[in-house]
Amino acid sequence: MQFYGEAMTKLIAQLAALPGIGNKSAQRLAFHIIDLPQEKAEALAEAILQAKATMRYCSCCCNLTQEEICPVCANPKRDHSTIMVVEDPRDMAAYERTKEYHGVYHVLHGAISPMTGVGPQDIRIRELLGRISEDTAEVILATNPNVEGEATAMYIAKLLKPLGVKVTRIANGVPVGGDLEYVDEITLYRALEGRREI
Ligand code: ZN
Repeated sequence: MQFYGEAMTKLIAQLAALPGIGNKSAQRLAFHIIDLPQEKAEALAEAILQAKATMRYCSCCCNLTQEEICPVCANPKRDHSTIMVVEDPRDMAAYERTKEYHGVYHVLHGAISPMTGVGPQDIRIRELLGRISEDTAEVILATNPNVEGEATAMYIAKLLKPLGVKVTRIANGVPVGGDLEYVDEITLYRALEGRREI
């Protein structure tokens, strides 16, 4: 790869380190970037730096946001007594696209996975427990329907039960082993509608 010179090799290596980008794609993207007009290349670099500098976690639901409180948590029209627990901000975005859910969310930023060494303390479970109050009517566990997601849902359900809060799990309308963010809106809506108390 040194063949292209140091700067290009560096760019390819950085791109190849991104998830889902293999060496071939990294080379293709690097060549595309080099061919961009100067202002487009600058806009791309600027967008990366700006997003990195300004994005943070909502102090309430841990969603990615530019504000102290994300737009969903800040919206008085949302039902703040219903909290849907998801693994990732992208899962939250997927449920938002259904336009059928009017409660608020809690983003865990991962799932419990003994295989990869992710324990309960590594995801935002403590923050979730801190949000539960007598005003909480229901917590919907919408973690992914795979081994890690199920284990995480069960773990959280066990913690919430003694608090006397209603805990539900989304139905299996979502393909087993699937990633919520790739499931279509109707399937997500059905999974939500078919949720059961656990
Ligand atoms: Zn929020």
